[in-house]
Amino acid sequence: MIYKNPYYRKVKGSYILLVSCGYCKTDIAKYQKVGKGNLLRMHINRIIKSSIDLSKDQGTLHCPNCGELLATRMTLKRENEDVYKMIRSAFNTRKVHI
Ligand SMILES: [Zn+2]
Repeated sequence: MIYKNPYYRKVKGSYILLVSCGYCKTDIAKYQKVGKGNLLRMHINRIIKSSIDLSKDQGTLHCPNCGELLATRMTLKRENEDVYKMIRSAFNTRKVHI
């Protein structure tokens, strides 16, 4: 993971998930997850670090190693916030510390 996310904002009461490619196991992002349950989408401003340069407007999230599509970007209208909608079964997550 080489890119710091310029939009990152710390969220209280969150924990860190390491998101990796489900095809080749490459680490994709460190993410602040809020609440229980599966990861359905990643809020852009909760991504701490990633293997993808988020300062560029990435319409889709592809694994930098194998090129598989992992997520597509969309705007939540009510919150006026951009998220990556994760493609089910295309990624893995695990809890990490820091
Ligand atoms: Zn991959």
